[in-house]
Amino acid sequence: MASFFADQLDFILFFYGLAFILLGAVCLSVARGERGSVPWMILGAFGYVHGISEWLDLSALIFSDSPAFAILRTAVMTLSFVFLFKFARREAIRRDFWVTGRWIYVPLLLLVALGGYLAGVNGANVFARYVVGLPAAEISAIMIARHAREVTLRERHWLYLAAAGFVLYGLAAGAIVPAVPNWSLDVFNYDVFAQWTGMPIQFVRALIACFIAFSIWGYWGQRLVSDLASTRYAAFQHNQFYRTLGALGVILVVGWVLTQVLGDVYKSHIEEESSGDISLIASRLAAETKATDGMVKALAYTEAIDRVVAGGSSARAKAVLALDAIAADASDGYVLGRNGRVLVATDGGIVHAGDDLSRTRYYQMSIVGDRGNHFEFDVLDNAPYYYASYPLRESDGHVTGVVVLRKSLAGFERDLKTFDRSFALIDGNGVPLVTNRAAMRFRPLWPLPTKEVQALALIYGPISGAPLLEHEIETSQWTKFDGNRDFVQRISVVHGDWSLVVWKTPQGIFASRVLGIIITLQLTIIALVYLVGRERWFHDNLQLERRLGLEELARDLDHRAATDPLTGLFNRRKFDRSLAVEMLRAQRYGTPLSLILFDIDRFKSVNDKHGHQAGDAVLVELSRYGAAHIRASDILARWGGEEFVILCPGIDGTMASHLAGHLREGFNALNHPGVGTVTCSFGVVEFNPTDSAQSLLARADAALYRAKAKGRDRVELADQPAKEAAALLAAK
Ligand code: GH3
Ligand code: MG
Ligand code: MG
Repeated sequence: MASFFADQLDFILFFYGLAFILLGAVCLSVARGERGSVPWMILGAFGYVHGISEWLDLSALIFSDSPAFAILRTAVMTLSFVFLFKFARREAIRRDFWVTGRWIYVPLLLLVALGGYLAGVNGANVFARYVVGLPAAEISAIMIARHAREVTLRERHWLYLAAAGFVLYGLAAGAIVPAVPNWSLDVFNYDVFAQWTGMPIQFVRALIACFIAFSIWGYWGQRLVSDLASTRYAAFQHNQFYRTLGALGVILVVGWVLTQVLGDVYKSHIEEESSGDISLIASRLAAETKATDGMVKALAYTEAIDRVVAGGSSARAKAVLALDAIAADASDGYVLGRNGRVLVATDGGIVHAGDDLSRTRYYQMSIVGDRGNHFEFDVLDNAPYYYASYPLRESDGHVTGVVVLRKSLAGFERDLKTFDRSFALIDGNGVPLVTNRAAMRFRPLWPLPTKEVQALALIYGPISGAPLLEHEIETSQWTKFDGNRDFVQRISVVHGDWSLVVWKTPQGIFASRVLGIIITLQLTIIALVYLVGRERWFHDNLQLERRLGLEELARDLDHRAATDPLTGLFNRRKFDRSLAVEMLRAQRYGTPLSLILFDIDRFKSVNDKHGHQAGDAVLVELSRYGAAHIRASDILARWGGEEFVILCPGIDGTMASHLAGHLREGFNALNHPGVGTVTCSFGVVEFNPTDSAQSLLARADAALYRAKAKGRDRVELADQPAKEAAALLAAK
């Protein structure tokens, strides 16, 4: 579990950063809708900056890190905590809690600097978490919980969740800190946490960050719902919330799997490469030993060597031995008698004639009739060698001695020095004796019992350094090797208990995984753009619908306020306004303006004889006819009861009288079903600049009265006002 998560740290950091950036975006949205309240904007800044600091950590992991970059990362993280602190402080001020002045940042940042002074950049990181992050998150949690009391019940749940999230976040980010070697202040550090829970703290923080982001988002959604007060929108928001949660969940899981697959492709590539490399080295080693094996056997059947055992010339044997040693590229060679004493040895070696080698492994193997071949560390030479030995026999098969070739591995080691893959030839205890990584020589590969280490120290000299692996490996494995996660492979060499080991730190592993991360990021962005766009679209559509509805309602009200419900004509209210406008226009431009007032004759009797409804039908029919037979610029209105009025801009009294006459004839010609025909009387008046609306209407009324008095069914034109008439007379 722990190793699974250790491989996933890149994706976890990505996901962690993403959660915070989402938190930032959500807070900014809330801030836009909720001004003058909680300083959401600052919380948003915290989210963004913290998200970025996580992504900087990610890039350090994927690409490369440097001390300067580590300082930058810690500085950005501290800045994010300062924003969180600022959020908490502002909110505390707003709520009239006792708070310190702005000077508080000075000692806090000095403490962070002190951490840096005491234990380097990690120390600063630890102190930033302890003195800024932890209090900031906890106070923020309290403030958000306080705010929750002031909002609606539905909004409250979300804020309580967010507050709980901040409590946990404060502990996860402020109290669990990076491990600082040889320091006691990192009480509860990442390693301890990982040991306890089997997962990295970053994973837990990422989950908490998501939880906070979604809580505040839920709150925001609830606010939008309350603002819009629409059940349709509430249902939409509700679905939208779970849709987004689901979509992001699916994208993250799919992205994670994709990242893993891409990483695995890279890993299997490394594994293949490793197998190729290890067999190459093994065959190279086999070639070395094979030549020696062949040569030692050939020596055993060489007469000169055979004879020396039986007391023959040692000079000849020595010459043959020396030549064949050179041919096999061996360091030296010697012939032992039955008792294990050296009979003859090549010059320049560490073995001399007369030496007792009866205790050596090769002697003991071959004296019983077997070929001997194995690797061994030569204590005298302080170097590893390959020993090949072969029994010398009499014709009856009786073993009379042993011939030995000793081959140094220095050439093999020299040849592979520049080989780019790290390799080591290790003894049965896992101690590298031949390797192209000088620092690894004599450093045990896996932990050994102390006794063993002491015993080995007698042969190799002091065995130094911590084991490279946590445990012995048999074949191949991805495992922690000297602090890195490497692919380590082991095969035993043909002879003896030594084996070859190769290992490789996968430099490009993160680079290939990062492709998966980028794809995940893109999918997330696309999904969010789509979902947010959809939300906007729905929200705007709903508002548009609302506005259109309101406009229609307003128009309807306007219409109703201006029209008569029975006839659909303008009513008196509307007419009065039009009259005022037209009078002003006539006065200003000196254009003529006339007005026709007409009344149905003896309408009471129509009602009486045929009923009120028949009367209504007559009113409607006359209105329809009248409206159809006036100019578009004329305004026909129902004056009240069975009286109507027509305002005729641009025509004088005489022309208006003609119009009235035409209407009269037209009305007379109409046949009303069940009623027959009706007649109307008309009073026409021409506007005079001295007229008021009242006086104009009074004169029209007078004319109509005259028409009625003169027997009805006729048109009467009103006189000009008395004053005007007098003026006209005087002029004549
Ligand atoms: P005159 O020729 O003198 O105008 O006689 P008239 O009967 O038309 O006069 P009067 O003003 O005495 O009567 C008006 C009648 O119009 C009274 C009322 O019954 C009728 N009336 C007014 N408004 C309506 C209406 O909306 N529908 C119907 N059906 N009748 C109406
Ligand atoms: Mg009437
Ligand atoms: Mg009337």
